Amino acid sequence: MTTAAGTKAELEVVGLHKQFNGVPVVNDVSLTLRAGEFLTMLGPSGSGKTTTLRMIAGFEHPDRGEIRLRGQDLTALPVYERGIGMVFQNYALFPHLSALRNIAFPLEMRGVGRTEARRRAMSALEMVELGSQAKKLPKQLSGGQQQRVALARAIVFEPDILLMDEPLGALDKRLRETMQLEIMRITREVGATVVYVTHDQEEALVMSDRIAIYNQGRIEQIGTAQDLYERPTSLFVADFIGESNVLTGHAEPGNGVVRGATWVADVPSSATVTGSGPVSLVVRPEMLRIASGAAPEGRNRLEGRVQEAIYLGGVRKYTVRVADGSLLECRVPRTGTESVLDPGDEVTLSWHPDQVVLLPAAERAEPAERAEPADAGAAA
Ligand code: ADP
Ligand code: MG
Repeated sequence: MTTAAGTKAELEVVGLHKQFNGVPVVNDVSLTLRAGEFLTMLGPSGSGKTTTLRMIAGFEHPDRGEIRLRGQDLTALPVYERGIGMVFQNYALFPHLSALRNIAFPLEMRGVGRTEARRRAMSALEMVELGSQAKKLPKQLSGGQQQRVALARAIVFEPDILLMDEPLGALDKRLRETMQLEIMRITREVGATVVYVTHDQEEALVMSDRIAIYNQGRIEQIGTAQDLYERPTSLFVADFIGESNVLTGHAEPGNGVVRGATWVADVPSSATVTGSGPVSLVVRPEMLRIASGAAPEGRNRLEGRVQEAIYLGGVRKYTVRVADGSLLECRVPRTGTESVLDPGDEVTLSWHPDQVVLLPAAERAEPAERAEPADAGAAA
C-alpha cells in the first residue's frame, strides 16, 4: 500500500535459515522485492516455501538471517506489528459470523470502532466484488467466494505486504483461473507487494512479475517467467518450468562442440565451455524441428522414429525414439501446411544451436524415458 509519503514498501530477506529437528528446511534464502511487485515461490512440496512465508509473517522465528521492510529489521517484531496480511489455502473464516463481520472482527479486536470497522470491511468486500453478499455466512458462500472474503480480510488492514500460501489450492481449475486474475487485479489496485506460494507452474507463469524456484530449502533460480523458461541455470529449473528434452554428452572446448553417443552439437553462442566434463543440452519441444527421412551428416541433428503422434488442436505433438533409446518430444504448430507424420515414420530432429541451453550435467534421477547415453564419445 501507499504510505502517507507515497513511497512504496520493499521487502528484503537476507540469508534466512531454519532447521526443524536438526534438518535444514530453509537454507540461506535471500530475496529482494520491489514495492508493488508480485513474486511467486514455486517448488515441490516440502521444499520450504511455507516455512519461508511463515518467517516473513512472523509465525516462525529464523535461526539466522534478516527480514527487512523498507530497511527496517522485522525479525524481532511480533506478527501483528509487521504490517503484513496473510491468506491461506483453508480460508479460516469464523463459521458463525457473516462475511462482513468476518472482516470487521479483527479490526474491532484491534480497537477500531464498530461503525468504522464495518465501513472498512464493506469497502474491502466491495473490492472483492462481494458487496451484495455481506450478510451471508461462510457456508452460504461458494469456495471461491469464501476465498474472496479471506482476501478481503487480509487487505482490510491495508498491509504493505501480502503473503498468500496456495490460496487457490482448494478450488477447481476453472475457478482457480478466474481467481488468479481477480487476485492480480485486487493486489494491483491496493498496491500491495505480494509473495505468493504455489506448486502449480501454470499459476506462477500467469500471475508473477518474478518467480523463485525452490528446491530443498534453497532458491534454485529467481527471475521472470521468460528468464526461467529460456535461460534455466539448472536441469531442475528446466524440468520444473515447462517441458524439456535433455541430451547428455561431453564438451569439447577446443572444437566448440558437445559430443553425444550418436550426435554432435554446436555449443550455443551464449555459452562458454572450459572443461571437457559431461554437459546437458536442454531443447524445448517447440524448438525441435522434425522432418521426414534420415539425416544427412551434420551437427545439431538426431535420427529417430516416431513413436507417438498426437493431435492437440493448435499443435501436433510427436514422441520420437532416437538411436540411444531415449524419447524426445517435439511440438509443431498446426499451420495447415506442416507435414504430418505417423508412428513408425523415420525422421530427423534438428535444432538451431542458439535455441538450446547448455548446462552442467547435474546428477539427478532420470525419468525412465530419458535414459542417459552411456559415456560414449567422451573427449575426442
Ligand atoms: P512447502 O511449503 O514447500 O511444501 P514447508 O515449508 O511446509 O514446505 O516444509 C518444509 C519441510 O519442513 C518439510 O519437510 C516439512 O515437513 C518440514 N516442517 C515444516 N514445518 C515444520 C515444523 N513445525 N516442525 C517440523 N518440521 C516442519
Ligand atoms: Mg506449503
